[in-house]
Amino acid sequence: MASFSARKPITIRLCGPRGFCAGVDRAIQIVVLALKEYGAPVYVRHEIVHNRYVVEGLEAKGAIFVEELDEIPEEHRKQPVVFSAHGVPKSVPADAESRNLFYLDATCPLVSKVHKQAMRHQRLGRHVVLIGHAGHPEVIGTMGQLPEGAVSLIETVEDADNYVPPDPDNLGFVTQTTLSVDDTAGVIKRLHERFPNLTAPAADSICYATTNRQEAVKQAAPGCDLFLVVGAPNSSNSKRLVEVALRAGAKKSVLVQRASEIDWDDIGDISTVGLSAGASAPEVIVNEIIEAFRERYDASVELADTVEETENFLVNRELRHVPLTVQDMAFVNGD
Ligand code: SF4
Repeated sequence: MASFSARKPITIRLCGPRGFCAGVDRAIQIVVLALKEYGAPVYVRHEIVHNRYVVEGLEAKGAIFVEELDEIPEEHRKQPVVFSAHGVPKSVPADAESRNLFYLDATCPLVSKVHKQAMRHQRLGRHVVLIGHAGHPEVIGTMGQLPEGAVSLIETVEDADNYVPPDPDNLGFVTQTTLSVDDTAGVIKRLHERFPNLTAPAADSICYATTNRQEAVKQAAPGCDLFLVVGAPNSSNSKRLVEVALRAGAKKSVLVQRASEIDWDDIGDISTVGLSAGASAPEVIVNEIIEAFRERYDASVELADTVEETENFLVNRELRHVPLTVQDMAFVNGD
């Protein structure tokens, strides 16, 4: 006789911190507040954060996502355009100004800090080495803070081995904020070995949210038969969590955007499942996944918390007076 008690017991190790970081929270808030203050449509250049659920939720409220500013029709030039949390090259606000567009910059303050560190290196006469992933919008934005040729991109230890700088004694580095802490340490070590005068930025470029999520996954992954990370395939910090889980001892690790993507036929004989979410993944999807397990297993949730995060970034001055309803807050928080 089939009954609930016949279901296999499993433990879900739920990592904390997980999901939305302060920069993502702020970026979503800026779009929501702009819609309330200026009315729809509000244009957003690039996915505000790398998550379809969030993007579709904002579209339903009246946001229109474009890749470039010339996609904004003439009749909507008075409506605001928001720049995404990943940051933009300097040419983008300059272009917006030349088109008389009203823009709101949702670049995460921690990405802006990396921009400042890169500019500081250059001001002090150093060639800038940026450690990051080619083509990622944050990397495009950071490289675009400085003139062409002022920044060299290094992705791997092998790149560090082969790198030929313009002046080996005058180099400064920064990194993308969402890299693997361990991999990046390896690249920096190699660069230091080859270029002992390489100058580090005044503060770590990998952000608190990336570091904390990776550390929590590292703690929870040993002994997991499966480790699920909620996140988009183009989300750098989510992909890194999958790698961290595997390296830390999870037998298998998979990136999923929704519960519907879990391949239940392929899941095998599991008793412990790790669960985390990238910085752009809302909590509502974490809950959806826990529910999907509860429908199939006798699942109990074990909290695997490491540190408590208290970071909170203020939105743009123009929007600080706009009130948020309880429903807006739930959306902004990903609940
Ligand atoms: S992951 Fe880090 S740098 Fe990126 S938005 Fe979040 S806090 Fe900012």
